[in-house]
Amino acid sequence: MSIKLFSNTEFLDPQQHRTLRWECLKSSCPNSCCLIPDRTFVVLEEIIGLSRYFPVVITVEVDEEGKEERFLCAYFRLKEDSRGCVYLKDGMGCLLGEEKPYTCKQYPFFIKGNYLAMDLTCPGFSQEKGEPLWDGQHINQRFERQFFAYSLRLQEQRRETEDFVNTLFELNLVVGGKMVYEGLEVTFNMVDEERLYNLPEAVKEELFKSGYMRLIYAHLNSLQNWERLIKKYLSG
Ligand code: SF4
Ligand code: SF4
Repeated sequence: MSIKLFSNTEFLDPQQHRTLRWECLKSSCPNSCCLIPDRTFVVLEEIIGLSRYFPVVITVEVDEEGKEERFLCAYFRLKEDSRGCVYLKDGMGCLLGEEKPYTCKQYPFFIKGNYLAMDLTCPGFSQEKGEPLWDGQHINQRFERQFFAYSLRLQEQRRETEDFVNTLFELNLVVGGKMVYEGLEVTFNMVDEERLYNLPEAVKEELFKSGYMRLIYAHLNSLQNWERLIKKYLSG
C-alpha cells in the first residue's frame, strides 16, 4: 500500500513529544520520502540552482474548494517511474547534498501557520532511536538549523513566488509544452519564448530589472532535464 506523505502530521509539543526521537533510516527506510513524491513546489531563490538538475515548471491545480492554485514545481521523476527521484542512489541516498530542494532539506519537519510541525508518516520517529526532538522546552538546535531554517525560507518566499507566477499569466506567457524523447511524451506548462520576445520593450525592461527574466530563462533551460527523467525511466 502506498503511503501518502503528510497524511499524519502533528504540531511539535514539548510536553507531548518530550521523549520522541528522530533519525533518518536512509536506505533501510520502508517508505522513503525520496520514492513517494514525483515533484515538489519550489520558491524563487531556488529556481536558478535547481534548474541545473530538475525540470522546473509552472503548475496549475484546483483545490478542494474549487480555487485555482498556481505554483512552481521541480519534478523528481516521471509519474510512472516507481523507482523514485532521479537523484536517489541505492545505498547512498541523495546525490545532491546541499543542492537539493528546500522541501527535501526540511523534511520530515515543516512550519504550519506559525507552528513547528512534523510528518509522522516518516518512520524515522521513535521513542528509542535517534536524536531527541526537545532539550527541555527548546527544540533540538541541530533540527532548528538544518531543517526549520528551510521551512522558514519556504514560508518567506511563498508570496514572492506567487507574484512571479501570476505575472507570467498576466503577461499571457504561459502555454502548454511537451517533450518527446525515445517515443515517450511528457506534457507541462512553460513560458512561450516567442510571446516573451514579442512583449513591448518597456515590459521586457521591467522583467530584466526585477530579475524575472533571469528566472524565466532558468525555467526554460531546466526543461532539458526532462530528458534525464525519461532516460532513467526507460533504463528501468
Ligand atoms: S526522512 Fe523519513 S521517510 Fe525520508 S528516508 Fe529518512 S526515515 Fe525515510
Ligand atoms: S533531491 Fe534528494 S532528497 Fe530530494 S527527493 Fe531527490 S533524492 Fe530525495
